[in-house]
Amino acid sequence: MLERQPLFPHVIELNHQARERFGCSVYLVYDESEWAMIDIGYDDEVERIVEMVRQLDFPLAKCKTLIASHADVDHIQGLAQAKALFKTTVTAHPLAAELLERGDRVGTFALIEAQEINLEMPPVKVEHRVNEGDTIQIGNLTLEVWFTPGHTDSQLSFRLGNLLFSGDNLFRDGCVGAIDAHHGSDIQAFIRSLTRIRESDIEWLLPSHGPAFRKDNALIDKTIARLETYLHMADFGTCSVDWPLMDQWEREIAEGKLPG
Ligand SMILES: [Zn+2]
Repeated sequence: MLERQPLFPHVIELNHQARERFGCSVYLVYDESEWAMIDIGYDDEVERIVEMVRQLDFPLAKCKTLIASHADVDHIQGLAQAKALFKTTVTAHPLAAELLERGDRVGTFALIEAQEINLEMPPVKVEHRVNEGDTIQIGNLTLEVWFTPGHTDSQLSFRLGNLLFSGDNLFRDGCVGAIDAHHGSDIQAFIRSLTRIRESDIEWLLPSHGPAFRKDNALIDKTIARLETYLHMADFGTCSVDWPLMDQWEREIAEGKLPG
């Protein structure tokens, strides 16, 4: 048996519990004997996770559901395997559910040919499609679903009291989840999601990568300001809204301006 090492009451994070970083954050939320998991990570770690759940003395049959924060492969590749082992259901945003059910390797980043990333993406059926305002009951606990798009078009966060399981919205160093058109990044939506988190009375953020940390509005402001610059820069290609240099160039061309 393993001694439970909760981060907060009713919340264990399995990398922290194992004292070893083995993947994305895997949150086990529990009340009495019922429990659920937010993200599962890669296939390779599923057996270890099942063994940890056993060792932590959670009955496998009491798994309420496996929740996907979004449909990037590093969060959800192991869902099909874990679902079969725990004999449970999968919960995700409707847009994530589409990618998961067809095992979409491009939309989940399992296949990035230019970088020779070529991973399996086992399709998995999603029984529960959840969106803004829905709730997920775990024992007597209520997880409130927040739709927080930006990193992807299906990114969810989950509120539990003063905690927010915040997905890839923001990490402790001020970084955000990858901005890439292929999984539906939207910088303006991202800014709205971060603003919502900033304005909330949440006290702790439990991200899907890296350590949990106290919500710090100055950090969020800095991140938002950075994302605002991306809206008008070429750096993120089609995710920007405009590129002022092009207007300037147009004027200079019309004037016949020479370099210098
Ligand atoms: Zn991620």
